[in-house]
Order: sequence, then structure tokens, then C-alpha cells
Amino acid sequence: MSHQDHIYLDNNATTPLDKRVLDAMLPYLTDSYANAGSSHLAGLTVNESIQEAAWQTANLIGANEDEIIFTSGATEAINLAIKGLSDSPKKHIVTIATEHKAVLETCRYMETIGFAVSYLSVSSEGLLDLNLLEETITDNTLIVIAMFSNNEIGVIQDIAAISQMANNKNALFMCDATQAVGKIAIDVKKLRIDLLPISAHKFYGPKGIGALYVSAKAKIKLQPQIHGGGQQRKLRSGTLNVPAIIGLGKACEIALNELKKDEERIKKLRDHLEKSLLKIEGSFVNGNTLNRIYNTSNICFPGVNSERLIIALKNISVSSGSSCSAATSTPSHVLKALGLSDENALSSIRFSLGRFTTLAEIEEAIVRVTSLIEQL
Ligand SMILES: *Cc1c(COP(=O)(O)O)cnc(C)c1O
Repeated sequence: MSHQDHIYLDNNATTPLDKRVLDAMLPYLTDSYANAGSSHLAGLTVNESIQEAAWQTANLIGANEDEIIFTSGATEAINLAIKGLSDSPKKHIVTIATEHKAVLETCRYMETIGFAVSYLSVSSEGLLDLNLLEETITDNTLIVIAMFSNNEIGVIQDIAAISQMANNKNALFMCDATQAVGKIAIDVKKLRIDLLPISAHKFYGPKGIGALYVSAKAKIKLQPQIHGGGQQRKLRSGTLNVPAIIGLGKACEIALNELKKDEERIKKLRDHLEKSLLKIEGSFVNGNTLNRIYNTSNICFPGVNSERLIIALKNISVSSGSSCSAATSTPSHVLKALGLSDENALSSIRFSLGRFTTLAEIEEAIVRVTSLIEQL
């Protein structure tokens, strides 16, 4: 499929690489190939670029560069954050039923090694009940885990309030902001976030690179999950993926400068798409529409098989839910948590827009989706 006729509305699954990010990476795939850990001049020079990328990454979220650990992505960052706390005397974890599988499955693993996990339910709009959260956190709660914005429905939780409650009970707070970093301004200090995973490919950086922010102030003693040469303060061994890290840094720098501009433009397009598609009889939006990230619209078209619609849409890329479960026809755990029937969950489509989505693409998507649904 050529770039021109591909209408890509699946930016929550992954984003295209920004050309400026690619340009920043290229020298590190060719001439600047030295190992960032080597003590010769070439190595030291590459290491300086790594330090700058750590600074760019930290700067986007209001952190310091020594609070950043590079990982292969958010999944690894989440695994390190949670499993890295296995030695703690506190054995209770609190999280939300609508979290990403990277969090939920790691929590399931923690249950097998002696932890108790509370998976809190959400309202029909996808919002966490703060009273329920407060009742659930105990003196034995090690960590509260809540996502910033949901990858499937875009709903944004009240992170400041959740963080406050965790703090009040001396529990750590991890915020899976993988869908928000680079799209919404986040300040980890103001929000008192202790651990925060980042993934470059969700905001126009390369795949296979991300980071874990670990608050220095919280004095967290993480156990490494990957042992070896002792890179990254022994927290994550392995030769640094230099080109990818440079790409992550560049993606962060661009996001910081362009996030406001992106928001204004993308929100208009998303609202136009949503308003137009809601004219289809019986259709409705999944999740709260006020506390929601500006690029996402998850719409249920009752009676329409979403997998069939996706195939029929051909060059228009949309999603039936989380990309991980797209191959199977099990209804999305997020939509089920909102109380949708299996049928409605399997009739829902996620449209996620991005920096490179155009008005012409949205107009064409509206026409094509509307006429296909009439046919189906
Ligand atoms: C994509 C995503 C992840 C996993 O990120 P990878 O870097 O692809 O491993 C985790 N959490 C959320 C909310 C995501 O959207």
C-alpha cells in the first residue's frame, strides 16, 4: 500500500516515524556506531548524545535525566517497575480493570508469587470511582497503578486525585502514561508520580525503545530484571540501542514543541469524524467524552461486525480494540468493563488520529465508513 492512499487511523496501536526523528537517528546507524559504554573518544562522543537524549526524555515529563532508564518499550518498563518491587514486605497491589495487558498480565504474575491484587471496576463511562479506590488502599498496599489515558477509549482518569490517595497511604504510584506522553503535557513532580513507562512508537518515534521514569525522591529500590554488563546503573544491562534512544530523545523534543499545535488540529478532526459517524443510526461513543484524550474516538455501531468492517475498509486502518487481541474475536476487556454486551463490544471501532492525519483523509473515512455500514 503506497503512502498516498493509506488512511491511517490507528495511531494508538503505533504511529508513523516522524521524518525528523529518522534524520536524527541515521548518523547513529552509519558513522557513529561506537558503543556508548566504551572509554575511547568515539564512545564518549556517542555517550554524550545518549545523555542528551536522556535529558530530552526527562524534560518532556518534568523529570531529571538520572531518573530515566531506557528499555525496549513500555511493556518492559512496566515489567521492571512492578516485578522490580517483588522483594517489598508490602504484598498488595491496586490497579484498574481497564489497564493495558502489560499491566494486567504482570499483576497476574505477581499473584503467582504471593501478591494480592485488587482490580478495580470502572463506571459505564470508564471512570474510576475514587471512593472505591480510597477504601481499597490499605497500609499493606505497595503500589497503586492507574493509566493516564486509555488506549482503547481514550478516557483520562483523575491522576492527581489517584496519586494523592496513594501518597496519603504511603503507597507508590505508577501511572501508565504510554498513550499520553508526547500528546498531553505531563509533569511527574506536580502529579507526584513515582514510576512512569514511556514508549517512543506511540508518539512518532521508533519501535522497540522506551523508558521507565523512576522518581529519585521516592527512593525506590528496584531489582533489575535483566542482568549483565551493569549498564544503566545496573538496573537494565545490555548494550544501549543508540539509534533508537536518539530517536526517542528527538521524538520527545518535537512533542514538547508541538503538542499544543497537534492537540488543536487533531481535536477538530476527531470531533468532526465523531459527529459525522454518530449520524449512523444507533451508533454511540464508548467511554466518557469530557475526560478524554483528543485523538481517540471509540464508536459502537450495533449490529455491525467490527472485524468484517475492518477488512472491508481495506486501505483505511482502524482497530476493533486493543491491537493485541485484534486477531481473536474475544471482546475487548475494556469495553466489557464498561458493561457492554459481547455483541456491542464486537461491534465497536476505535479511530485514533495522529500528527499526520489530514482533513481530506477524515472526509474520505466518513464517506467510506458510512456507506460500508449501510451495506453491511
Ligand atoms: C502501547 C502500550 C503499552 C505497551 O507499549 P510497548 O512499548 O508497545 O511495549 C503499554 N501501555 C499502554 C497504555 C499502551 O498503549
